[in-house]
Amino acid sequence: MGARKLLHILKLSAKQQREFVNSFDVVLCDCDGVMWLISAPLPRTGEAVNALKADGKQVLFVSNNSVRSDEDYRKKFVGIGVKNFRINDIMHPVKAMLYYLKKHNIKQPVFSLCSSFGNDKLRNAGIDVRTLVANEAVTPATLERITKPEQKMGAVLYDINLELTYAQLVAATRYLADKDCQFIAGGLDRTLPMTREIMMPGFCDFLDTISSFTRREPTIVSKPALLLGEILKDVYRLTEPSRCLFIGDSLKNDVGFGRDCGFQTLLVLSGTTCIEEMWQASAKERPHYYADRIADFIELYANINKKC
Ligand SMILES: [Mg+2]
Repeated sequence: MGARKLLHILKLSAKQQREFVNSFDVVLCDCDGVMWLISAPLPRTGEAVNALKADGKQVLFVSNNSVRSDEDYRKKFVGIGVKNFRINDIMHPVKAMLYYLKKHNIKQPVFSLCSSFGNDKLRNAGIDVRTLVANEAVTPATLERITKPEQKMGAVLYDINLELTYAQLVAATRYLADKDCQFIAGGLDRTLPMTREIMMPGFCDFLDTISSFTRREPTIVSKPALLLGEILKDVYRLTEPSRCLFIGDSLKNDVGFGRDCGFQTLLVLSGTTCIEEMWQASAKERPHYYADRIADFIELYANINKKC
């Protein structure tokens, strides 16, 4: 296969830029590293989304981060100026878990290692969510009792949870000894981009610990799992994947995911991937297009409109 040329969207001619934006109807956009950094803003991202919407694009968001309530997400999108944002426009692992639990008719209680926001969302949707809150000191003498299964569970749920404890991990392994108990996981990012300077480790290693100890493979409902692609296509009725553009800052979780789903892909260099990493990637790992930041769409549209 010949090497496909990887082009910056602002290096395309005005004609190519028009052909590019005419080649998709739906934009699926990662959040952390694209719309903002976890605890720092990125400039003019809301304006870029509005430019895409003004061109008739349906803009949806696909995040691996469920550690925000619906209200927090709404405030963040409204805060950066995104027009007509609806909470149903965003998919994240807890929502994907909910879809999975309902689709597979899992009626028993679930043991959750998700964040409190995630647990609230699941409970509000009617799921019987159980968690472990230790009411006494966790010591070698108490650990076995504290982590003892309280009853049969339909599933163990795992996601990013900044308050995760060792006792909760142990309890999860004990529920998973029951082979009928499903194991469903989100939040697999290796790094969390807090600010431009500060990256923090993600939660995938804790998941690996549970998985290797129990010899159970989790069902993954976050990027880059294909199952999430199927969920997105079903929930948002994405009947023509090639007319969807996936925008993200991770080569694996966004570009790889988007490509595997049959979407066009655009890598932005405002998050976890630097330009050297992009050029070092093999031809098949590379995105279809790249940009410094999503705000480059503002200039792209200004350029197209000027030349029309
Ligand atoms: Mg990201």
